[in-house]
Amino acid sequence: MLLRHTTKEIKEREALTVNPAKTCQPIGAMYAALGIHGCLPHSHGSQGCCSYHRSTLTRHYKEPVMAGTSSFTEGSSVFGGQANLLEAIGNIFSIYHPDVIAVHTTCLSETIGDDIPQIVSKAKEDGKIPAGKYVIHTNTPSYVGSHVTGFANMTRSMVEYFSANTGVKKNQVNVIPGWVEPSDMREIKRLAKELGVKIVLFPDTSDVLDAPQTGRHQFYPKGGVTIPELISTGDSLATIALGRFASTSAAEALDAKCKVPCEILDLPIGLEATDRFIDTLRTVAGVNVPDSITEERGRLVDVITDMEQYFYNKKVALFGDPDQLIALTEFLVTLDMQPVHIVTGTQGKRFEERIRKILKSKVPNANVRQSGDMFLLHQWIKNEPVDLLIGNTYGKYISKDDDIPFIRFGFPILDRVGHSYFPTVGYQGGIRLLEKILDAVLERQDRDAGDTNIELVM
Ligand code: SF4
Repeated sequence: MLLRHTTKEIKEREALTVNPAKTCQPIGAMYAALGIHGCLPHSHGSQGCCSYHRSTLTRHYKEPVMAGTSSFTEGSSVFGGQANLLEAIGNIFSIYHPDVIAVHTTCLSETIGDDIPQIVSKAKEDGKIPAGKYVIHTNTPSYVGSHVTGFANMTRSMVEYFSANTGVKKNQVNVIPGWVEPSDMREIKRLAKELGVKIVLFPDTSDVLDAPQTGRHQFYPKGGVTIPELISTGDSLATIALGRFASTSAAEALDAKCKVPCEILDLPIGLEATDRFIDTLRTVAGVNVPDSITEERGRLVDVITDMEQYFYNKKVALFGDPDQLIALTEFLVTLDMQPVHIVTGTQGKRFEERIRKILKSKVPNANVRQSGDMFLLHQWIKNEPVDLLIGNTYGKYISKDDDIPFIRFGFPILDRVGHSYFPTVGYQGGIRLLEKILDAVLERQDRDAGDTNIELVM
């Protein structure tokens, strides 16, 4: 048992994180950048950072993730990385022909203090950026924030670099999906289409990180939001930002820059959060909800009603990214489950406030922590055992150690597939989550049943 030394006795720690429930900023920036069509992410730092970011994304999405690096050596660490980045920009455009290079920084280049906009201006002056091509950037010092912050920062940069208000409104709505799977992005587009609303989804990693096997390698897969679409976001009717932590920054920047009003919502995971998303999209676009969506909703409600007895009062521990946890907690409460331990590694007091509001009278004594770690989560579980654990792949050790049914959900999932192909957002995504929860709970019930009380029919 890998975690057999986890103690039950909890000591408050300030300067020590054990098994963090987050990863580093540039991973999020790289993921967001891959949601622009024809974009090559570029890591301004040393090679090891870039390899780590690429390999984490590749292991989760099971797709080769391409990215450039400024390949810092001792020299650049002392004198700065301007020469490396200038050379990289020239090489990338002449060899790999992207439409956009999306530069993010790393701990090292942030500590040196490299001024990326100044380096990009110099690249322009030197004729290294061909006409009609772009270099955008965001700052992602990993000693603050998390991968969610990096995602939010790169998404905001898309607005800062591209969005333009021409004064002529377009009959379209911007949707910022937050950090969700390519499958979720595809599902959000399907729901909007079903409602008859034209949306610009940015970033959009569907058809990039879930691209089909065609036998032909495409360096830039067909998916991703295009540059003209990004420019047009400044003329949209409104912006719907999904996930306060990952999407607020871009939505507010778009409002400030182009006067596009925004609605900040939770991720549409579960019944109520999906209702709010559908209702907001309906309202801002001035459309009616078609029967097909009402029927999808009805099917989710039907499963909840039929299976309520299996969800009731089951204790759940969950960990991961704040936007996912907020929506998931609300869904679990809808199911009459009891989320008793909730940890995110990402900073933000608003996380604890929002979760406490959701749990209010239902689970008033729940343990909730922002900037927490998985060691603390495990200790809480040892003090108050749970029926179910939900989180990314790293939860498997706690699950094994304490023999808890485990559902993989969030980022990263390194040891299973399915997450990038089957959505968990929307009403259909809700049914998938219910299926996973039921499978885990009932498998355990069957395993623990004796010969005389094992049930054939639920
Ligand atoms: S934490 Fe900093 S040094 Fe480590 S991989 Fe991330 S960017 Fe690189």
